[in-house]
Amino acid sequence: MQYCPKCLEDDEDPYLRAQWRFALQFGCARHGIALRDACPHCDAPLMPHRRPDGDARKCSECWKNLSALPDPLTEPEREVCRAASALYRDGSMHVGSERATFRDAILAVRRLFSWVTSARLPEGFANEFDIPSPMPSTEREPFDTLETARIGVRRWAIPFCFALLRTWPDDFLKACDEFGVSRTRVMDLRRTGAPSWFDSAIARLPHFPRARRTRHPPRRPTLETYKSAFERVSFEDYFSTLRHVPPGCGE
Ligand SMILES: [Zn+2]
Ligand SMILES: [Zn+2]
Repeated sequence: MQYCPKCLEDDEDPYLRAQWRFALQFGCARHGIALRDACPHCDAPLMPHRRPDGDARKCSECWKNLSALPDPLTEPEREVCRAASALYRDGSMHVGSERATFRDAILAVRRLFSWVTSARLPEGFANEFDIPSPMPSTEREPFDTLETARIGVRRWAIPFCFALLRTWPDDFLKACDEFGVSRTRVMDLRRTGAPSWFDSAIARLPHFPRARRTRHPPRRPTLETYKSAFERVSFEDYFSTLRHVPPGCGE
């Protein structure tokens, strides 16, 4: 559960926005600050139903103000938040020269997210897309997915995924060629199906890597850990939470 500290502060009667549930959103376009996924004082998740007096502005654990210490977004981050809002509102977005449906865009971002947050991403690849490298690792968990990763990871990875899709597939293929990225290094075990325009670009990558190995060897997770990553989010449940757009929600 994410929230905008300023929106809560400004509300006469604080309420939680449907768009804060959207996994591709990590900021508030109106206030230009990052969303939060926990209390800034004690890091407890947002659980407004636990407060006996129902005040959504206060942490249910430490009772302190959730609106403290807002974290400003950079201008490029705000741009991505606006693009995510537009996708949420319009149900489609530009991918290269085409327009992708809401579902296809999410599936593609989900696949890219699992790749860019993994050790299979070559060092320096992100810099090609004006994304700082390496990823800030403080909030990183080994089996993060788009839906389960914390805000610090998503705030880095989502602008990266949007940058990849903006010129899809040209700049992606060019950078892959430069860094010797093979098909097997983009594919992963958590694949959940992807649109044909995504898979056809991946199919143009060479089968085998031809470049140097990265300094960090790939993680070797057990089958059990993969299973739990699979089971954490049901896709049907996920999409069913996203269909409803309340009036006045788009920014
Ligand atoms: Zn806000
Ligand atoms: Zn707290």
